Amino acid sequence: MNLPDSSLPALPEETTLDERDGRYLRKAIVWSHAARRRGNRPFGSVIVSAAGEVLAEAANSNAETGDCTAHAEVNALRALAGRGLTREELAGATLYASGEPCVMCAGAIFWSNIGRVVFGIDAQRLRVFRGERQDQRDAELSCRDVFRASPHPIECIGPALIDEAAAAHDGAWKT
Ligand SMILES: [Zn+2]
Repeated sequence: MNLPDSSLPALPEETTLDERDGRYLRKAIVWSHAARRRGNRPFGSVIVSAAGEVLAEAANSNAETGDCTAHAEVNALRALAGRGLTREELAGATLYASGEPCVMCAGAIFWSNIGRVVFGIDAQRLRVFRGERQDQRDAELSCRDVFRASPHPIECIGPALIDEAAAAHDGAWKT
């Protein structure tokens, strides 16, 4: 008899996005495929102003650069450097991430003053793709835990478009 294992935590429920959030999250997912094609972990990120201007977009570039901090979100945030955005403009911006931001990226988002995050596949579902290899495991602290500790509000929406965001991870963590 295969009874469901009640000791496993329930997976987070998918959020339904409006047209605008869906459009930009799909853009981040396109970057996750670009990252994979170039030999990196399949993650992408896009930062969009309150007015809907794409301020930055980036792929993960860990493998290309040998830089362990070159996650898509950090790469996108670094692309904002020198743009002269005000704190208010940043607070009104949204960072889209194809996968739930890790602890490092959540910290970087906090320091950026960006006020809103929308992500695709959640960390729990990503762990299924990563498998049991110790060198592929992430820290089990959710981005929401980091954002909750922030003195300024950081709205966090996700997981969303899970199947679309998951596609780039299929078979990507075997090596
Ligand atoms: Zn990260």
